[in-house]
Amino acid sequence: MMASERKYRIPGEDIVVDALTKVLKEAGAINSQRLLREIVLNEIRKIDPSFRLSEKRLRMIAINSGVANVDIHCRESEKRAKMSRCPVCGSKLYPVKNKTIFGGTVTVGKECRVCGYWTGIKTRMPMRYVFTPK
Ligand SMILES: [Zn+2]
Repeated sequence: MMASERKYRIPGEDIVVDALTKVLKEAGAINSQRLLREIVLNEIRKIDPSFRLSEKRLRMIAINSGVANVDIHCRESEKRAKMSRCPVCGSKLYPVKNKTIFGGTVTVGKECRVCGYWTGIKTRMPMRYVFTPK
C-alpha cells in the first residue's frame, strides 16, 4: 500500500468517549452536532492529528455509550415513515399501536427505545441535536 493511501486514522470508541465526556463537562450543553464534532475532533487530534470522525459516528457513540443526553429536534415531512432503524442512533424502531374502537390495534407511529426518537405516520426528520452531559 502506498503511503498516500493512508492519510487518516479512525479513533477507537474509548478515545472518542473520553474526549466527549471532557468536552461536555466543560461546555455544559452543545446545541449543534457540527460544533460538537469540531470540538471533539480538536481534542482527539491532540493525540493523533490524523484522526477523523464523522458527525454520524460521533452521535452514535454519544448515545450508545451513555455519556450524553441528546435532545432531538425534528421537522415533519410529508413522506410516510417506512424506516425500521432509528435515524438518530441506528437502533431498532418499535411500532406504536393504539387500540381501535373495534377491538383491534392500529399502528400510529414508531419509537426508538434507546434514544427516545419517535415518529408518527408522517416522518419526523431529525434536524438538530442538543447534547448535554449525563
Ligand atoms: Zn434511536
